[in-house]
Amino acid sequence: MGAGPAALCIVAELVQQGLQVQALASHAPDQPWPNTYGIWAEEVESLGMASLLGHRWSNTVSYFGNGVDLEGMTPVQHHFDYGLFDQSALQSALLLKCAGVNWRLETAKEIRFLGAHTEVVCNSGNIFQARVVIDAIGHKSPFIRRPNHGPVAQQAAYGVVGRFSSPPVDSRQFVLMDFRPDHLSKAELKEPPSFLYAMDFGEGVFFVEETSLACAPPLSWSNLKERLYARLSNRGIEIQEVLHEEHCLFPMNLPLPDRNQSLLAFGGSASMVHPASGYMVGALLRRAPTLAKQLAEAIAIEPALDSEILAKKGWQVLWTNELVQRHRLYQFGLERLMSFDEARLRSFFATFFRLPREDWSGFLANTLPLSRLVIVMLRLFAMSPWKVRIGMLFGASKAKEI
Ligand SMILES: Cc1cc2nc3c(=O)[nH]c(=O)nc-3n(C[C@H](O)[C@H](O)[C@H](O)COP(=O)(O)OP(=O)(O)OC[C@H]3O[C@@H](n4cnc5c(N)ncnc54)[C@H](O)[C@@H]3O)c2cc1C
Repeated sequence: MGAGPAALCIVAELVQQGLQVQALASHAPDQPWPNTYGIWAEEVESLGMASLLGHRWSNTVSYFGNGVDLEGMTPVQHHFDYGLFDQSALQSALLLKCAGVNWRLETAKEIRFLGAHTEVVCNSGNIFQARVVIDAIGHKSPFIRRPNHGPVAQQAAYGVVGRFSSPPVDSRQFVLMDFRPDHLSKAELKEPPSFLYAMDFGEGVFFVEETSLACAPPLSWSNLKERLYARLSNRGIEIQEVLHEEHCLFPMNLPLPDRNQSLLAFGGSASMVHPASGYMVGALLRRAPTLAKQLAEAIAIEPALDSEILAKKGWQVLWTNELVQRHRLYQFGLERLMSFDEARLRSFFATFFRLPREDWSGFLANTLPLSRLVIVMLRLFAMSPWKVRIGMLFGASKAKEI
């Protein structure tokens, strides 16, 4: 179920395994996706898909300075290429691998488990049966069972693709995080922090997006828009033409699904968004083949397996114990970061990007084995200034009392 990046990734791999797939989605699979997806170039290269990038930047920087001392104004150079998928090329490449699949325009409203089969009841009244159903309808799925751990932190962003009175970033530059707070008053500095994510698209067009890493409740789009305009205006920049506006809101620390349910999930509904970075597309491309292979092998060995057992086998490879432990560490880290004020947060990221590149990039892509991830986190702790260390140990609000 679904026709977003998660659905297309998993359907493509199921088809490659020779399985029979019936796809149901509220919109056509070739309808353009509403979001543009960014990814570190090394991740797409390792998947052999670098040709699907529509844009690629080698000049990739962040700013964690305080806007007062000169050192703080110097950008941190990441020396690591970043890219944006050419959305239609990615969608077409995945759809090509889905050849032969029957896509039906249907919205699922109820799932019924009947032992050997699962039924999907749709708004149209049509009912579809399958040996196992995979929910890839995004993080709002009402069908997936997951524990309630209280309010879920969300990444929110407001962005503009447009033309500006003067360039908001250097020519051919990508800015991952511009945390310079020199446009903020003392009162504004106490509010939950946000940063600028920006890039040069060429031919006088830039994308600028004010982003809040994670917050519960999330920062509103109107607040982020105000912040974006204040940031630009402080630098004497005006937006002259808005070509496209992006409103972004998705959960960062959605609890992991119950792995004992008879419905499988993939993508946002399976809590696959990286809790520390908000990225997911690389993980979808890496993890879809394993899940598809597991299902194909299970069915080949025992053709009569029922939905419950098949789903269980799927959950076992989708969320292995190793991945669950890594996810818990990331969630712990995100909770700590969410308690940091802007100065502590800037100090944290300045330290984070001083880690060896393979460590910070592996951390962000979730490709470090658990043991390495623990070592990297300990190393980060050791490298951090005391105020960050205390925040990491106790959370910043508690740390203020110490
Ligand atoms: C604005 C924005 C920007 C993002 N940028 C990035 C990025 O740069 N890089 C990155 O890696 N991640 C990014 N993410 C995070 C994540 O990758 C996306 O949220 C991604 O779109 C999630 O994919 P998905 O396929 O799980 O869900 P979705 O993209 O939400 O797709 C869900 C699909 O299910 C269908 N559907 C919904 N309900 C039903 C139903 N009841 N029955 C049938 N079909 C249904 C929908 O029509 C849709 O086709 C971004 C998220 C947002 C919101």
